[in-house]
Amino acid sequence: MIRFEHVTKRYADGTTAVDDLTFEVAEGELVTLVGPSGCGKTTTMKMVNRLIEPTSGRIFLDGEDISTVDPVQLRRRIGYVIQQVGLFPHKTVLDNTATVPHLLGRPRKEARARAAELLDLVGLDPSVYGDRYPEQLSGGQRQRVGVARALAADPPVLLMDEPFGAVDPVVREHLQNEFLRLQSTLHKTVLFVTHDIEEAVRLGDRIAVYGAGRIEQLDTPATVLGAPATPYAAQFVGADRGLKRLSVTPVEPGDLESPPVVRLDDAAASAADRLAADEAPWAVVLDADGAPYGWVAAGALTGAAAGPEGPGDGVGAASEAGAGREAAGAAPQGTVREYARPMAAWLPLGAPLREALSTLLQHDAGWIAVRDGDRHLGVLTPGGLHGALRRSATADAANRPRDEVSLDTVPVPGA
Ligand code: ADP
Ligand code: MG
Repeated sequence: MIRFEHVTKRYADGTTAVDDLTFEVAEGELVTLVGPSGCGKTTTMKMVNRLIEPTSGRIFLDGEDISTVDPVQLRRRIGYVIQQVGLFPHKTVLDNTATVPHLLGRPRKEARARAAELLDLVGLDPSVYGDRYPEQLSGGQRQRVGVARALAADPPVLLMDEPFGAVDPVVREHLQNEFLRLQSTLHKTVLFVTHDIEEAVRLGDRIAVYGAGRIEQLDTPATVLGAPATPYAAQFVGADRGLKRLSVTPVEPGDLESPPVVRLDDAAASAADRLAADEAPWAVVLDADGAPYGWVAAGALTGAAAGPEGPGDGVGAASEAGAGREAAGAAPQGTVREYARPMAAWLPLGAPLREALSTLLQHDAGWIAVRDGDRHLGVLTPGGLHGALRRSATADAANRPRDEVSLDTVPVPGA
């Protein structure tokens, strides 16, 4: 959709801001350009809507060389959001948002109706905020208006230059989430500039790591974090890139362990036998429909204390057994229901490992059940999580699916 071919920009004073840049952004893709101040991100972006002309090289939009397109026509196809927003101070929020459709010849009433829709879309109730003036808004709200205005003419392409850079971290996270939600329905082709690697990783389908006018690496966030292509990229994404990878690495079926599974209505005695036969410290308990209910500790069934491998507090504390608890060694009476504990938390398949880790920590748990819809798939343990992270880094570096990487192919540090 946007293609750079050997694009160089040298300013009059001799500064080479962008140096022989070649890359492509696919239709519907969000590419973040991330790098330190002065590395050429804004220059790259402004060449797309011809606010800046390249010194050499060509840029194509939808296959068309943009140097042959009238800049005004070109900019109608490209929404532009910048940090300072650039709202008209003397116009209301609604009129600010309606400006472009109105300029494009839409009748005023229609343009305002469209503007109201867009304000709603970015989380600003038009009946509350529509008649306000920009100075009556918070920084975050002004940025929302900026996004609404950029979307007003429904351009296929969005250029966003540090749009959320001036707001505080909490508001920024809200704006990022809202923008992701919007993008998941709008599928715009987006070039998004930021100097914040966290933001780049969070938003980008791919991220372009910039260093001094050049792209050092252009790849998915997981790959850039797991396998930085150059020492510069590694340094830029940070020593804690393993932690950052947690946010962009999903839980996959191959990461899960399969402890024994029993049903709520199974006889407690047969469940105890199953656990003993498997030498398992606990089992996952499903309800009659096969949906996950909770867990039962071998110790609860036999009257002994739960072993150290049992789950911790929260996901299910093993401190007290159910009413049917028997003296150690005796066969338990009744059904699993009387010994089982409900699960305090579970994860959907595909949840980021970061969420898994945070749930494990929050519940001080030794494992967490993972579901695919209503179906129980298995459990994720801290070891499983660590393995998933190691395998995914190796898989990304080798460009292979993660389930094709076996852990013993991963070098253990110091081994
Ligand atoms: P970024 O957006 O990554 O901070 P810019 O694209 O704004 O970087 O700038 C890249 C380089 O080009 C910097 O060294 C900057 O000082 C220089 N530069 C930007 N605009 C101009 C200009 N109009 N004239 C001369 N140099 C410029
Ligand atoms: Mg800039």
